[in-house]
Amino acid sequence: MKDSKGLVLVVEDEKPIADILRMYLTREGFGVQVESDGNAGLAAAKNSHPVAIILDVGLPGLDGVEVCKELRSSGFQMPILFCTARDDEVDRILGLEMGGDDYITKPFSPREVVARVKSVLRRTNMTPTDSGPVVVGEVSLDSNSRRVTVAGGEVSLTATEFDLLEYLMSQPGRVFSRDQLLSQVWGYSSVVGSRTVDVHIAQLRSKFGVHDPIRTVRGVGYSVEIA
Ligand code: CA
Repeated sequence: MKDSKGLVLVVEDEKPIADILRMYLTREGFGVQVESDGNAGLAAAKNSHPVAIILDVGLPGLDGVEVCKELRSSGFQMPILFCTARDDEVDRILGLEMGGDDYITKPFSPREVVARVKSVLRRTNMTPTDSGPVVVGEVSLDSNSRRVTVAGGEVSLTATEFDLLEYLMSQPGRVFSRDQLLSQVWGYSSVVGSRTVDVHIAQLRSKFGVHDPIRTVRGVGYSVEIA
C-alpha cells in the first residue's frame, strides 16, 4: 500500500519538522522522501517524480526560492507548497515568476500542511472534462491535455496558474471575486488572503503579454473577456 497516493518530497533542514511531516503524510498514504538541503532537494525533485513538494525557504546550499526557480525554468510543473518561518519572506515567495502554488508560515500544524497538499493535488488531478478547448480571444485552453496556447504558441503554466485560468475561462465575461477564486481554485477561503490571487493573476498576465484576456474589475475581482 505504500506510495499509493504518490510520493511527496519534503525539503526541510529542521529534522523534527521533517520527521513530523513524514509521519503525518505517511499516515495519509503518501510515500515520503525527505532531503535536508537545497541541492539534494533539487536533485530529488528532478529524479524521484514527486506528485508534490513541500519546500522550506531557508535551506543550506540552494534556498527554497532558488530550488523552485530552477525547477520551473527546467519545465517541472509539479505543485510546490512553500514553508517559511518569516512573514517578510512571503512577498519574495509569491514574487512574479516564482511559480510556487501555495505557502504556509511556521509554526504550522502538520495537519494543516497535509490538508494543503491534498487540496493542491485535488485541484491538479481533477478529472478533465471531455469538451474541446475553450477559446477566449487568442487564448486557447484544453482541459484534457492541460495545455494553453496564446496566438498559436504554447505557454507553460504552473498547476495553479492553469487551474486559475481554467476557472476564469469556464464562464467568460463573468466577474469572479478574489474570495470566490480562493475558495474554488485553492480550495479554502481567506486563509492566505487575496494577495495570492493577485500575484497569480499577475503571473498569468505576464505570460500572455499583448494577448492578455484578463480584466481587473476594480474593487470586485477578475474576469476573462471575449475579445
Ligand atoms: Ca529551514
